[in-house]
Amino acid sequence: MLIAAEIMQETPGMYPKVQMFIAGEWTDGTSGKSEDILNPATGQPIGKTPHASRQDLDRALEAAKAGFEIWRKTSPFDRYKLMRKAADIIRSRAAEIAPVMTMEQGKPVVEAQGETMLAGDLIDWFSEEARRAYGRIVPPRMGNVSQLVTKEPVGPVAAFTPWNFPINQAVRKISAALAAGCSIIVKGPEETPASCMELVRAYADAGIPAGVVQLVFGVPSEVSEYLIPHPIIRKISFTGSTAVGKHLAALAGLHMKRVTMELGGHAPAIVFADADLDNAAKILSANKFRNAGQVCVSPTRFLVHESVYQPFVDKFVAAAKSLKVGNGLDKDTRMGPLANPRRVDAMEGLVSDAVQRGAKVQAGGKRIGNEGFFFEPTVITDVPRDARIMNEEPFGPLAPITSFRSYDEVVAEANRLPYGLAAYAYTTSTKTMQAIGSDIESGMVSINHHGLALPEVPFGGIKDSGYGSEGGLEAIEGYLNTKFVTQASA
Ligand code: NAD
Repeated sequence: MLIAAEIMQETPGMYPKVQMFIAGEWTDGTSGKSEDILNPATGQPIGKTPHASRQDLDRALEAAKAGFEIWRKTSPFDRYKLMRKAADIIRSRAAEIAPVMTMEQGKPVVEAQGETMLAGDLIDWFSEEARRAYGRIVPPRMGNVSQLVTKEPVGPVAAFTPWNFPINQAVRKISAALAAGCSIIVKGPEETPASCMELVRAYADAGIPAGVVQLVFGVPSEVSEYLIPHPIIRKISFTGSTAVGKHLAALAGLHMKRVTMELGGHAPAIVFADADLDNAAKILSANKFRNAGQVCVSPTRFLVHESVYQPFVDKFVAAAKSLKVGNGLDKDTRMGPLANPRRVDAMEGLVSDAVQRGAKVQAGGKRIGNEGFFFEPTVITDVPRDARIMNEEPFGPLAPITSFRSYDEVVAEANRLPYGLAAYAYTTSTKTMQAIGSDIESGMVSINHHGLALPEVPFGGIKDSGYGSEGGLEAIEGYLNTKFVTQASA
C-alpha cells in the first residue's frame, strides 16, 4: 500500500469535486449556491462546497424515512456485514483520502492518515456491537406474565459535524446510528467537506441501502433549524462549540428530540511534584500541538506544582520550539496551519489579552508569514486566572502554564470552569492517582498517559461540555429506545 506522502508525490494537487449524497445518489443539489473551500496552508480556494436547498433537504428527509424502514428490519448480522465492508473500504483508501484531508484542513498528512485508519476501527467496533443490543427478561410477580425489555432504534437522525476531524467526528455518529438500526442525515463540515464525503462514499460503496446514510451541506443555522424540528427526525447529535450546542439542544428540547452533545472543553493538565517530568512534558506537548490544538480534549490549563514548575516549563518550551511547522503535505511537518482565519484571529486576541494582564510569552506568540493560516506553537507563563485564555477554549496551539501549591488548590482550579470534558494528571503516587480520578469534575480523566478516544471506551463530557457519549456501549445506547412489553397468557 502506498503511504499518503507517496500518493501526493505522484498526483500533487488532486482535490475531488465535492457533492452531497441524497437518496442513494451523488448530487450538486438544486440551490445553485456554494461556498469556496480554502487550503489553510495557502489561503487559496481549492474547490466548492454545494449548499442544499429546502427541496434537497426534503428529499433527504423522505429518503431517511424510507431508509429507516429498510434498515431497522435489516438483521443486526447483515448490518454488521455491510458495516465491516465499509471499514475495509475506508482503510483501503486511506492513503488517497489523507492528502485530501490535509489540503482542506491543514493537519500533517500522517495525522490525516491515522484519522482515516481509525475510522475503520470505529466502524468495525460499532458493527460488532450492532449484534449486542441486548434486551432482558424481568421476573414477573405472577406466573402467567412475562416481562420483556427490548431495544429499538430511535429513528432517523440529524447529525452536525465539525471541521477539526472531518472523518472522525462523522464516523462516530454514523456508525453508532447504523449499529442501532437508525438512518442518518449528516450535515458535514462545509470548510472540510471532501474527506467527510469520502467517508460517506465508503458506506455507499459497501452497499448500505439508499437513504440510510446521507450527506448534505449548507448554511449551518438554516439546515439545523429545518431538520431539528422536522417530525421525521427523532434524534439530534452535534459536535461543536458550547454556545451553538446550547442553542441546538434548546431547539431539540422544544420538540422533545433525543440529543447527544459533544461540546467544548478546557482540559486541566495537572503535573504533581512527584511526576515523571520527561514523560509528562513529552506526552502533554505532543497532545497540545496535535492538529494545531484544534481538539476538544486538547490539554489546555497546565497546572504544575511549584517545586517542578521551572523544569517542566523548560522541557515544554523546548518541545514547542522544536516543532516543525509547515504545509501538512510536507513529510517533515509536525504541525500544520490552523484550519481557518478565525482561529488565527482568536489566537492573536488570546495572546495579547494575556500579555496585557502580565503574562510572559516563552515560545511563539505570533502568526507565521502572510500566506495561509499559520500560528507558532505558543507557551505562556505567569498567566493570571482572569486572562481570557484561562477561561475560554483556545482551540489552537496555546499552552498557558501556571503553578500550584496544594492538592486542594489544584482540584479547585481544575473544577473552576463550567466545562467538564477531559482532564489529565501526572503523578507516581497511587494515592494521588485514585484521588484525582474521583475528585475531578470531568467526563474523562487520563492519568500518566493520553488514553482517550478509542472506539471501545466512552467519549463525552459533563457540565457545559455536553451529554451523551461518542464511544463505547454508551454511544449506541443514545440511538436506542427502551421498550417494555408485558404479556399475560390468555
Ligand atoms: P462555531 O461555533 O460557529 O461553529 C462550530 C461548529 O458548529 C461548526 O462545525 C459549525 O458548522 C457548527 N454550527 C455553527 N452554528 C450552527 C448552527 N446554528 N446549527 C448547526 N451547526 C452549527 O465556530 P467555529 O469558528 O467553526 O469553531 C469555533 C469553536 O467551535 C471552537 O473554538 C471550538 O470551541 C468549537 N469547536 C469544537 C469542536 C469539537 O470538537 N468539540 C469542533 C469544532 C469547533
